[in-house]
Amino acid sequence: MRKKIIAGNWKMNKTIEEAVELAAAIKRDLADCKAVDVVLCPPFTAIKSVSDVVSETLINVGAQNMSSEEEGAYTGEISHNMLKELFVRYVILGHSERREYYKENDYWINRKVLKALEKKLRPILCVGEKLEQREAGETEKVVEVQIREGLKGVPAEAYADVVIAYEPVWAIGTGKTATAEQAQEVHAFIRGLVREMVGDQAAQTVRIQYGGSMKPGNAPELLAQPDIDGGLIGGAALEASSFVGIVKAAL
Ligand code: PEP
Repeated sequence: MRKKIIAGNWKMNKTIEEAVELAAAIKRDLADCKAVDVVLCPPFTAIKSVSDVVSETLINVGAQNMSSEEEGAYTGEISHNMLKELFVRYVILGHSERREYYKENDYWINRKVLKALEKKLRPILCVGEKLEQREAGETEKVVEVQIREGLKGVPAEAYADVVIAYEPVWAIGTGKTATAEQAQEVHAFIRGLVREMVGDQAAQTVRIQYGGSMKPGNAPELLAQPDIDGGLIGGAALEASSFVGIVKAAL
């Protein structure tokens, strides 16, 4: 039985003060949440403060990106060591906004995934098609390339620590959610692909989140699908009551 995982991607929102306030409000409801893995992913500047707020709770902290390199002359980058000393456990990689605005490609995303796993950070690998790709019937083809390339070289036994977030780009921040059936169809495809790539054990253990305008209202139906193991939440993660509502729908 896979444990559901709900992660909040705060993106480029929240000053330290605001982040502390949000984390404290979430902590009031979810400090002892055992049944679902809860992950807060603040901007880098607020990670330390959020980690302090949720220390001694079951809430995890994640980052929104990470360098594929160890250390050195990489201006503007943040390494695995820097994250781990702030008690970060998860890292979002290959988010569609990074692919689109910063031209991150599958090669670099794969290097980050491998580095994260090597250093015992759990990658949340984001994949998903754009609207024109869905309309052209290319959803599976696009997602397949992102998964095969993004997870290249990941051994079967590491899939227990891998989270895949299926995020149709047309549903992110738009208020348009994939229907539960549309999402389930792609999730089942992804699990089948993992089975083909590395075997049934890995396919059964890898967790696949849905992301794209998930809210307390649509979360129960999405999370009831057999291959949807949680959510990566953007907008609704910025308000404690919405985020907590989604986590409760996953219980
Ligand atoms: C996201 O960016 O990962 C996301 C799912 O955003 P939203 O929930 O706002 O669509």
